[in-house]
Amino acid sequence: RRIAEADSVAVIGLGRFGSALALELMDYGTEVLGIDSSEEIVQAHNGLLTQVVRADSTKEEALRQLAVHEFDRVVVAIGSDIKASILTASLLLRFEVPVVWAKALDDQHGLILEQLGVGHVVYPETSMGKRVAHLVRGAAMDFIEIDRDYAIVKTSPNSVVIGRRLGDTGVRASYGITVTSVRRENGAWANADADTILQETDTILVAGPIRKAEEFAQLR
Ligand code: ADP
Repeated sequence: RRIAEADSVAVIGLGRFGSALALELMDYGTEVLGIDSSEEIVQAHNGLLTQVVRADSTKEEALRQLAVHEFDRVVVAIGSDIKASILTASLLLRFEVPVVWAKALDDQHGLILEQLGVGHVVYPETSMGKRVAHLVRGAAMDFIEIDRDYAIVKTSPNSVVIGRRLGDTGVRASYGITVTSVRRENGAWANADADTILQETDTILVAGPIRKAEEFAQLR
């Protein structure tokens, strides 16, 4: 079946990264054309994606036949074969695919992709390494860097906020952070506001400059 190219995403390279990305897109209702040069990988994804095709994405003719140029969004998830990644990305740009995402193995690979004109270069290894560093430090159950100096930290509430109206704790002024959300013992997440009273068994999201958010998460 031919998929509606405009609403869907083509994912080239179904290794660990591309496969996880493609399956997550499917889970959330986006149609996916998966492309990989390995027959084994293609077979493993049969029935899991809207369409899976075996092709070498460095071949212009192959991409044309798959109508990849008609997609609005294409992800180049080829990593270890840097040459294939760069050739594929350059073909997509030549086809004028409006939105191209590509995974870079390291900074040099990423720089070349960016210089080619790839709009969205992601560094899964580097980003994950940085993220895990903050988890290893201890206080964060989860850590999402929003920008170079801003993060959201998942943690448990400390004595500064437990048992009082959040609005009366003054944490914004004294600690430079905001408690944005709370998960109660029953498992449901809710937005936090000035009237929220946190309990020891809650889990919270703290937003703020990275150092401040982490410092606050470390307080007990
Ligand atoms: P990961 O680390 O996410 O597993 P890899 O770089 O190891 O990523 O895997 C990338 C995938 O891309 C592999 O499944 C490989 O078969 C596929 N691939 C590599 N080169 C090409 C190409 N020229 N055309 C299509 N698929 C390719």
